[in-house]
Amino acid sequence: MVFVRTSAGAREARFVLGGWNTLAGHILSVDIGATSTVMGIFDGDANLRHKLKFPTNKHSFRENVKEIKRRIAQCFGGSSPDQVICGMGLGLPVLYDEQTDIIQKAANLPQWVDQRVKLVLEAEMNNIPVCLLTDVYASLLGEKMFGAAKHASHFVNICVGTGLGMGMFLSGSLYGGANNLAGAIGHMTFREGGRPCGCGKSGCVETYVCGGYMEELLRKKCASGEYGSSRLCDAVQRGEVISSFEIIKGAHANDQLCIDILNEIGHNLGLVIADVILLLDPELVILNGGVIINSPPFLIDKIKKTVDANVFAGANTANILISTLGEEASLYGHYWAVRNHLAGSVSSGSAPPAIAQR
Ligand SMILES: [Zn+2]
Repeated sequence: MVFVRTSAGAREARFVLGGWNTLAGHILSVDIGATSTVMGIFDGDANLRHKLKFPTNKHSFRENVKEIKRRIAQCFGGSSPDQVICGMGLGLPVLYDEQTDIIQKAANLPQWVDQRVKLVLEAEMNNIPVCLLTDVYASLLGEKMFGAAKHASHFVNICVGTGLGMGMFLSGSLYGGANNLAGAIGHMTFREGGRPCGCGKSGCVETYVCGGYMEELLRKKCASGEYGSSRLCDAVQRGEVISSFEIIKGAHANDQLCIDILNEIGHNLGLVIADVILLLDPELVILNGGVIINSPPFLIDKIKKTVDANVFAGANTANILISTLGEEASLYGHYWAVRNHLAGSVSSGSAPPAIAQR
């Protein structure tokens, strides 16, 4: 068993546990988000055989892993993970210190701080090999190998959901920076002294583009009275909590209040993406995450218009598009990383190789 000093922001998948069992022919991909955990079970030919999703247990990493184990058993007639899974790719939305085996920071899952990762995985997943790859890098890899970026050498993948993250593929390689934190655009400062962020700062970009801000905008716009007796404002007045999902649903139903909220989100995202384009000059910007995937088409139009208005003529050559893989992008990325590492460890009998594209 080899433990490698890393963080969940690692740009390369790394084995942290176990040796592999060739008889257990499936690869498990797990993308744990602050809201939902998405699982994919692949066969050896890259076919996604099972896809499952459940609400992330915000209180306990261990309980979340137990749920993963239960779902595997449901798919395979009560089998334990080591009987059917030969390797697992795992994305955690946390900063994790592998040496101490402790979750150090979890902006959107604060109760997971100080919980143990390897200890829990060893106990609950029967010591199957686990590769850690952060969600944005897994999505990036999925897009490169199976999605819209197959032919791109310079592209970014931006995920907008509960948080905001970006993965970068530059000059033909994944780019993670000195500490594997590159692309943490969600925590760049958007408004000094602004909204508090789970990372401990205030005014971070992600607090102005994600679901929580949509909910705040709804409360503010309702309080202003300019939308009269809107259905959602009536609900807010009754003290109901309206989720960003409800707001997106309202925008699909042509509710002007919800449309205005999404336009503001699109404007803010456009400002950030314009800066990304000026900084990196990518040929492709792939947008992903629940806010993007579930919203009506006018959101991407608003983003593009804002980008056009904020990148000087001639510099804006990037093709901005919505991921066709959606939430499966990260599942495919984890699958690819695990498959590569397993193949490498079998052929060489030593440490797994770097991802093929590097
Ligand atoms: Zn932040």
